[in-house]
Amino acid sequence: MSYYKPYERSFVIANSNKKFLPLFIDAEFVSSSSSQTKEVLDPSTQDVLTYVPYSSFQEMDRAVESAQQAFKNWRDVPVPERARFFFKYQQALKDQQEEIAQILSQENGKTFEDAKGDVWRGIEVVEQACHAPALMMGESVENVSRGIDIHSILQPLGVCLGITPFNFPAMIPLWMFPLSIVCGNTFILKPSEKTPQTANKLAEIFQSCGFPKGLLNVIHGGVDQANYLIEHKDIKAISFVGSFEGAKAVYRRGTSALKRVQAFSGAKNHMLIMKDAPKKEVIKSLVSSSCGAAGQRCMAISVGVFVDCKQDWIDEIAKSMSSLKPCSWKNKEADFGPLISKSSRQRVLSLIEKAKQEGAKLCLDGSHFKSKLYPKGNFVGPTLFDEVKADMSVYKEEIFGPVLLCVRVKTLEEAVSFINQNPYGNGTSIFTRSGESARYFQHHIEVGQVGINLPIPVPLPFFSFTGWKKSFFGDLHAYGKQAIRFYTETKTIISRWKSAETKVNMTIKMK
Ligand code: NAD
Repeated sequence: MSYYKPYERSFVIANSNKKFLPLFIDAEFVSSSSSQTKEVLDPSTQDVLTYVPYSSFQEMDRAVESAQQAFKNWRDVPVPERARFFFKYQQALKDQQEEIAQILSQENGKTFEDAKGDVWRGIEVVEQACHAPALMMGESVENVSRGIDIHSILQPLGVCLGITPFNFPAMIPLWMFPLSIVCGNTFILKPSEKTPQTANKLAEIFQSCGFPKGLLNVIHGGVDQANYLIEHKDIKAISFVGSFEGAKAVYRRGTSALKRVQAFSGAKNHMLIMKDAPKKEVIKSLVSSSCGAAGQRCMAISVGVFVDCKQDWIDEIAKSMSSLKPCSWKNKEADFGPLISKSSRQRVLSLIEKAKQEGAKLCLDGSHFKSKLYPKGNFVGPTLFDEVKADMSVYKEEIFGPVLLCVRVKTLEEAVSFINQNPYGNGTSIFTRSGESARYFQHHIEVGQVGINLPIPVPLPFFSFTGWKKSFFGDLHAYGKQAIRFYTETKTIISRWKSAETKVNMTIKMK
């Protein structure tokens, strides 16, 4: 026997304190019948926050069936009316931003300020969904031939699937389902099993806004659940964000089932520092963008490429990094939090160890860091290596920890060629006072997001976010503006009219 505790967003097994997270199917929070569950741990303390169920096949079928039924009516709801629901949703998210951020910090470990930013970047996408009527306009040309007109319209696809990572538990689900749903689709979200509570909170707020049932369903679980849904006959399109290995697997599985797939993957982001760059700004930007969120951002700068650099720059970076304080999000002084899991910490420590063995010059070692207040936390202290080479493991792999690597080169051309040889292409930036150098960089660099004198160039949703090379697989580089094109199919209509008398007169009935 179990009963639902809405204020804890959990089911509780009678006569025990074991809480487990509900699924969200057909607009209701329901208990999973699955016997397979996994602990969700607070990464600062290892306290069990809840148990996440690994949904059964029947539960997933039920969620897809609910979404499929909902699609039949939702696709015919007028676009402005669909958008109006999202006006409500964005206000409700704003009203509860702090509560969402608290749940998020607890399970992800990032600082409260960072968590509020995570929610805010998601709200900005919901604001974009409110523009749906303008975004969904088609195109038309009259008289492409005598008496023949062509127009194209955008139509929704059906049930779409989103598979999301642990590092932005609010922003990334919100990249996906609001735009997909406002286009007339319905959605199944499979959030990270490491941070599943935030997704339930987003669903709870969604439910409170009066959306018709079945538009959003949340299925919990891991790789097996993702795979089952990817291959489900009624899933039409798949959005994935996560590691390179995950993206590759999802892209292969999805496309071989002939589905539309967009897969955002891992990263290795470089900052190029010219000799004329403003030193203070560079150091501040390098330190915050490499160690913020414990380096667990897909846009984190993990490599500084210095053109003809003097030693005092590296010494000052080490000094500035050594003043950072890793701690739990509950401590307001914390500069960043713990890594998501013990195994992530172990992975980062072993990459640091390998870098030492492979000959990188260690300038600051955070591998022995222990928090006095949170001794069980998965913390790694800020770590700095100089004289890093392209064949070292620490350079070849995505670290996803608070580790900055410095590479020395002689010219701008050499720096650009070094960055372009890296297989990833998510984000990059240059710091310089020279317009000529900036222009050269912007033109020649093979990376999706490019910053000039700013460290983390994340575009707002009315632009598009795009990864190059190993950082993105799929046919549309899409979140933000272009996501509309991912979640819709274009239909081109060519019409011939005998007379040219027809004119469209549209009146909107006021409610
Ligand atoms: P992950 O790949 O381990 O998991 C992401 C999601 O995919 C989870 O829901 C997981 O259950 C599922 N999954 C994992 N392996 C799978 C497989 N083989 N088949 C099907 N589903 C699978 O990623 P993570 O550790 O949660 O997130 C960190 C990674 O995400 C980093 O590599 C980071 O760079 C990347 N990321 C990229 C972007 C971007 O925009 N490019 C944004 C955020 C994070």
